[in-house]
Amino acid sequence: MDFFIQRNGLRDIYDKVVAGERISDADALRLLESKDLNAVGAIADFARQKRTGNNRASYIINRYVNYSNYCILSCQFCSFARKKRDADGFELTIPQMVEKAREALAIGITELHIVGGLHPSLPFSYYTDMLRELKKLDSRLQLKCFTAIEILHLAWLAKKSVEQTLIELKAAGLDSLTGGGAEIFRKEVRSQIAKGKESAEEYLDVHRTWHRLGGRSTCTMLYGHVESLADRVDHLRQLRALQDETRGFVGFVPLAYHPEDNDIPVTHPPTGFDSLRTIAVSRIYLDNFDHITAYWVGLSMKLAQVALSYGADDLHGTIIEEHIFHMAGAKSPQLQTEAAMLKAIREAGRTPVQRNTFYEPIRILETAPAAEATETSARSKMLEDNLATA
Ligand code: SF4
Repeated sequence: MDFFIQRNGLRDIYDKVVAGERISDADALRLLESKDLNAVGAIADFARQKRTGNNRASYIINRYVNYSNYCILSCQFCSFARKKRDADGFELTIPQMVEKAREALAIGITELHIVGGLHPSLPFSYYTDMLRELKKLDSRLQLKCFTAIEILHLAWLAKKSVEQTLIELKAAGLDSLTGGGAEIFRKEVRSQIAKGKESAEEYLDVHRTWHRLGGRSTCTMLYGHVESLADRVDHLRQLRALQDETRGFVGFVPLAYHPEDNDIPVTHPPTGFDSLRTIAVSRIYLDNFDHITAYWVGLSMKLAQVALSYGADDLHGTIIEEHIFHMAGAKSPQLQTEAAMLKAIREAGRTPVQRNTFYEPIRILETAPAAEATETSARSKMLEDNLATA
């Protein structure tokens, strides 16, 4: 460890982490500029162990559902949104959403992750009715829904304040907000990649309001497009500051940018090196976050597995039906079976933990007894069969 740390003059940062001292923005920038990935990763792994106090890595059995890809905005980086005139636009009825949830509950999901575009005409009642109908299927099903910009859109639709909108969505069954839409906070970058989208202040204020109502959420950063490394630090700084204030974020999910099928000219999208370093710096800098997720959809499962040694302690979920990153060119599969996630975690020398939406453990799989292995592979087979016939 000392060998790695000494090598490239990162000793002072390592000492701060060991002492439980917060690293500065300048420290974070030095780490992001460092070519010594293994030294940065070693510090991040130390920070992870210190924060979590264990050697576990979690995953969730979840399903993504997009209720619609129609959107009134046209963010330059987005490959998902469609206009009403487009042949491949879609919107699901509430019974169709319920059917997707029913199928997924049959294979043991604990969470539905639901987002869509900013639909031009669906009424506010569509969203509250959808949440109510989904909760009726199983009150234990956790509904993680909507990005901050969707909440602003719904507030505008319903002609209510953001707070009142969130109160009504919560009463209808909303358990958690998603973290999507943060992109990069700096105004100049936002205007290049997501003109017309909410400002950083609005994103943070939606989450702040939700946290004050007792809600919890995740947050994200879309990296590897036109932003500078200093912009990434500025983004992390604003998330850390809000977390100091509310303690409402349960995890941070860095998202690697995918350049296909959109309007941003990016010649050097994130490499594996850049992704591992970004995850590692996130773990070291965000000292008030319990969990850092390696999002396999954007990274590939192989790199997400390696990220478990670079500060990440979570692999996200089975997902089942991912559209947003795949429409932007992600080559990863659209799902992971539970067996594949367990294998990736165990091979990385970590104990797998099935978690819920709030990263709370559901099952700690210390060993893999035969019965458990059989149950998991049966679930994985059901998942594969289900998809083959979907
Ligand atoms: S990123 Fe979201 S808000 Fe922007 S165009 Fe795509 S779906 Fe619409």
